[in-house]
Amino acid sequence: MRYLILSDIHANITAFNTVLDVTRGKWDKAVCLGDLVGYGPDPNEVIERVRELDAVTIRGNHDKAVTGLTNPEEFNPVAHAAVLWTRERIQPGNLEYLEKLPKGPVRASTFSIVHGAVYDEDEYVFGPEQAADGLLGAPTPVVFFGHTHIQGGFTLRGHDVATLQTRPVFPNESTTLKLARGMAYLLNPGSIGQPRDRDTRAAFAIADLENDSVEFWRVPYDVQDVQKRMMEAGLPEPLILRLSFGR
Ligand code: ZN
Repeated sequence: MRYLILSDIHANITAFNTVLDVTRGKWDKAVCLGDLVGYGPDPNEVIERVRELDAVTIRGNHDKAVTGLTNPEEFNPVAHAAVLWTRERIQPGNLEYLEKLPKGPVRASTFSIVHGAVYDEDEYVFGPEQAADGLLGAPTPVVFFGHTHIQGGFTLRGHDVATLQTRPVFPNESTTLKLARGMAYLLNPGSIGQPRDRDTRAAFAIADLENDSVEFWRVPYDVQDVQKRMMEAGLPEPLILRLSFGR
């Protein structure tokens, strides 16, 4: 079984549709690690496509802020503004869908998914120190996480946590990580809608764990198309500009 691993789509339907077009026929089932909304101009379109895919989906911090489960005033001013913008436009049925999303970790087949860290859905796993707890206490040997918008991952080598370089360097569009049996992996597919690792291309992964392999992908999409809609929607300028830089 091949799984399409989606994360941090952030209401960017242009990037999401491109990913689905490019991967047509390459996977059997989809999972989504949260943050369907926030930042981008297309919250309803993104939620509806995730629902159509029947993806195993968990909630992210932006999903929680939009539904009112957490207070968006804790966000920085531009993220806060995007939450309020999203609340005004989200359809009731889509809001209800977000409200019902479970908290990670959730098990999907032989792997698990979390938004942030294994022990705290809102924590950021940027480096080996933060990855250690999750690797040692992981519910399954392979855990996919999101939240940082940085494609990559971590594994244990002896007593150390090793950082994995999985990102396909431009112009390559994919790299394959071969997994060793009996090892623990924390893997981040990267963000579809707002990459922050200085690569503007939409990031995702395709996992084929029966064959011990995870492909990390980057695909270019029409950034200006989504930026134009963000401008028309009156979303904050820093959110529009950062898509041009992938950070
Ligand atoms: Zn996010």
